[in-house]
Amino acid sequence: MPGRILIVEDEEKIARFVELELKHEGYEAEKAHNGREGLDMAQTGDFDLILLDVMLPELNGLEVLRRLRRTSQMPVILLTARDAVMDKVAGLDAGADDYITKPFAIEELLARIRTALKKRDRGEELKTTVLRAGDLTMDVDRHEVTFQGQRIELTRREYELLRVLLKNKNLVLRREQLINEVCGYDYVGETNVIDVYVRYLRAKIDERFGVKVISTVRGVGYSVKEG
Ligand code: CA
Repeated sequence: MPGRILIVEDEEKIARFVELELKHEGYEAEKAHNGREGLDMAQTGDFDLILLDVMLPELNGLEVLRRLRRTSQMPVILLTARDAVMDKVAGLDAGADDYITKPFAIEELLARIRTALKKRDRGEELKTTVLRAGDLTMDVDRHEVTFQGQRIELTRREYELLRVLLKNKNLVLRREQLINEVCGYDYVGETNVIDVYVRYLRAKIDERFGVKVISTVRGVGYSVKEG
């Protein structure tokens, strides 16, 4: 899923370190060293996410963020100084998606980046999509699932599981991936939770309509195939 990330940070050591780590993870990364340059690059470059330091020369990070938000909803993670509570509140008010306090562990930063990109992807796909597999249709805008036009009532997690499977149609999804997508990364319950929801979905779709929508791939996970 990697993408292009803009690092706006005047402390060259931090900027360089983050750049190297991002590239190591497969992202493309570019740096800006003050607020004005950062805003210019953010507005003209094709970035997927911005890491934005708050304390910057020329234009501070919050001002960069406010100006950027007039035209762009691109994900922004603020880098704030330790205990700068006002920064965090002001940052979220100004439209930041998240913030991380310096000094930070790179693993935590990477996790926040993944989450912000995923949230954005989810937002984009929620805008327009109708997902289909054979006679099964999910209208994401209307939150409605039908089979040959007949309405299927699903709980929130059944719906979410089916949405992820349909979105990745013809791919095999591992149980852990599905748990992350459906229950969230912080889920700590039973690992067979996905099997349980698949069983519910099969009762409501496969058994009711005499079809086989969800395939089990033994030892791996589940898949929805076209057909
Ligand atoms: Ca700084």
